[in-house]
Parts: sequence; C-alpha cells; structure tokens
Amino acid sequence: MSEVRLRFAPSPTGYLHVGGARTALFNWLYARKMDGKFVLRIEDTDLQRSTREYERAILDALKWCGLDWDEGPDVGGPYGPYRQSERTKAGIYSEYAKTLVEVGRAYYTVYDKIDRKKELLRTFDFPKDYVDQGHDVTISFKVPEGKTKFYDLLKGELEFDNSTIEDFVMIKSDGFPTYNYAVVIDDHLMRISHVFRGEDHVSNTPKQIMIYEALGWDIPQFMHIPLILGFDRTPLSKRHGATSVEHFRSIGILSRGLMNYLALLGWSVGEEEIFDVRARVKQFDPSTISNKGVIFDPSKLEWVNGKHMRMLDAEELFKEFSDWINFTGRKMPQIEKSYALRVVQVCREKVNTLAQLYEFAYPFFFDDYNFEEQFISEYLLSPYAEELLKKAIEKFSNLEDWSVAGTEKVCRELAELGIASKNKVFQTLRGAVTGRLVTPGLFETLSILGKQKTIERLTRALEHRQTKTHERATQA
Ligand code: GLU
Repeated sequence: MSEVRLRFAPSPTGYLHVGGARTALFNWLYARKMDGKFVLRIEDTDLQRSTREYERAILDALKWCGLDWDEGPDVGGPYGPYRQSERTKAGIYSEYAKTLVEVGRAYYTVYDKIDRKKELLRTFDFPKDYVDQGHDVTISFKVPEGKTKFYDLLKGELEFDNSTIEDFVMIKSDGFPTYNYAVVIDDHLMRISHVFRGEDHVSNTPKQIMIYEALGWDIPQFMHIPLILGFDRTPLSKRHGATSVEHFRSIGILSRGLMNYLALLGWSVGEEEIFDVRARVKQFDPSTISNKGVIFDPSKLEWVNGKHMRMLDAEELFKEFSDWINFTGRKMPQIEKSYALRVVQVCREKVNTLAQLYEFAYPFFFDDYNFEEQFISEYLLSPYAEELLKKAIEKFSNLEDWSVAGTEKVCRELAELGIASKNKVFQTLRGAVTGRLVTPGLFETLSILGKQKTIERLTRALEHRQTKTHERATQA
C-alpha cells in the first residue's frame, strides 16, 4: 500500500482558530497512527490578506499544540518549502494550467487594462498581443456537463450537478493561483492520500474533483468534518468570544488540555473523557468521527484542563507554569524550586487554568498582596483580633516543627484559648498570612510559608489593624 500522507493547509490570514487546530489534530492523528507523514502547507496566495506574522503565529501555535509536521516550512522536504507563494514563483501552477488549456479544459480570458471588469475575449490560444498591450489575463477552468461525484468518509457518496457550478478562475491576473486550483496541484504533487478538512469546503470539492479528473490524477480520500459551533449553533467565530489557540494558551490552558478537549469535539474515544491524546494515537479511527455539529463550551474546556493540571506530576506542572509565565510576560520572583513545587501542588486542587493558579498562588509568591475587604471588616477589625494575633506571633515564634502537623497543633492551641470561636481564629489567621479568606488548607499554607514569612505577615496584619483602627477613631 502506498504511503499515508496528510496535510494541514492554513491560510496565514489570521491566528490559528480552535477549529483549525482540531482539523490539524485529526490529520496529525491519522498520519501518526498510520506511520505516515503529516505535511504543513502555507496557502498564502491571497497577497492582500496573508502575512508572515500570521504564518509565524500559526507555526508557533501548532508547535505548542504538539502537532509536529514532517515536511513544510522549517522542515523542507522534497517539494519544500511548502508555501504556495514560493511555488507560484517556481512556475508550478502555471505549468499545469497551460496543460489544461492545451487539452481544451481551460481557457484564457482577457480583461480591459483600464476597465478591469470588462471582458474582451475568451480564447484557447495564448493572447500574446493583448498581454503585450498590458491587458489582464486570467485562466479559467471550463466546467464540463454532467455530474461530479465523490465519496466522503463521513457523509458517504455525494453527487453534484455540474450545471450548478460555473466556470472558475484557476490563475488570477496577478499570476497567482486560486485556492480551488492550487490545492489540487499541491495535494497531487505532495502525494496526499487523505484530505480531512472542515465541512465548509464541501462545496469546493466538486470543483477540485473536476480538475483531478481533467488531469487524469487519482483522487485522495476526502473527509469533511462538521464545524465547531457556538452555543447559538452558528459556526464558532469571533462573535462568540476569543477563539484562537493563542488566546487559550494565554489564559493558561495546557496544550494537553486543549488537545484532549478538541479531540472530544467529534471523536468518541470511548467512555473516558480525560486522556492524553498522544497516548491514544493508535485508537484514532476517522470513520467514527461524529457527523453532527459540535458545540464549543469554554467551561468544559476549563474543566478538562483542570483534570490535566491535577494529573501531571508537580515537576511537569511547574514546568508548564514557568513556560506560561514566560509566554505571558507575568512577573515572578526568584524562589526556591522546592518551595514553588509545594505551592503548585497545593494550589492546583482549587483551579482549572494556569492563570487561575497564578492568581490563587499569588500570596505564596509575593508579599505585596492586599487584604480583602471582607477579611478586614469581618475579622481583622473584630475586638478579639489584636489579642489573637499577638498570641499567634508569640506561639509561632516558638514553633520549631513547621510540618503540617506542627502548624496544625499551634492553630488548635490558639483556638482553645477561648479568644474567639475556632472558625474565627482560623479565618483570621488565614486572612492575616495571605490577605484572603479562600486559600489552600490553613495548616498547609502556614507550613509552606514557614516561620519567617508567617511571623512577618502576622505582624503586618497586626500593624494593618492598628492603622485601620486609628483611622476609624479619627474619622469618628
Ligand atoms: N487554505 C484552506 C483553508 O484554510 C485549506 C482548505 C483545505 O484544507 O483544503 O481553509
């Protein structure tokens, strides 16, 4: 059997959309499952809208997703680099277009050089005189009579009446090919065996099939995947909020979380919802992909991501966290790795993204946290708080065992002094050392912060109380 070769062919006219990432993922999965090749081709023939910045962003996003390609920009390959703009300059597309004209399957159209919409002539002979005079010339495919059929892996046999399809341009007057034409030339020359792409391309496929047939080429296996929809069941777009891979990366979704969630959008792997896509490559079966539109639910994505954050070992999660901090340019103090690992380990229990982790862990990393208003009014300014904080400073100063059991013992002793209820004592201590009322477990928090920080922070809370009390007294 000939080699299985798939491709992802983005146009660099925007950032990588999650729908594009899912298409890339399904192509990648099948290529890897079949020990085939995954090819990346940049379809940049729309010169007005394509940029190298978007291309770079798409490449970065694919790399971050872990969807590595075997041929394409950055890798080369026998026909590389795979940029349609470069292949245009190499004359690849015009060569086959001329062949199609020669065999009567395509024709030249001449447009007036001033009134560029005005058609002057259609001809099978190269209109050299017109070209010399500076008129615009395009090459169009002549749609034959009859029907065009193809078999789609998900949709079965599809048939189109050619009378519903008009002749279409293959080579534009600027010499660049159109999508429907270039895609056929490239898929053929790159020996692409399977084309998996979004359902929005179904209506393009008969045009492409006609070109394959006219050139006498084999037709790849097509599969058109239902689009990802928003909650209103219209195709997911910017109207539904941010949809780019970069966006989800920047809010702290892990690559593995995003890939897992995108795999769930269509591919039913079995009962299990949480898995490492890379470990399931061999189970991927395109014919089981759902033929229904799937709805993108950002909160489910976060939920899936949270599961991954808790499944990773702490070292791996810390690596992801550090990479994310670099990616987003967040500030981070120089801290001992063992300290950071403990923080990440306890804080991940309560969060679903790296951004939430950063926010939740903030008081462990920085001293410049604020005291929440609710903590100040309900606890810090309560009559018992001064005595409690003073006792806490005293007892923690004498504590040698900063294990979780050690800090727990002191907390319980403080609760038993009868200064305030146990709940109040614990919440006051919690707020005093973190500024917040919702944190990881109190004993664990104190144990991680350690003696010096705990004392400093209790003292700071006490001072804050004194300042606030003074302010209130002078205002009254
Ligand atoms: N450049 C096309 C797109 O981004 C590729 C479609 C295809 O896979 O054939 O939609």
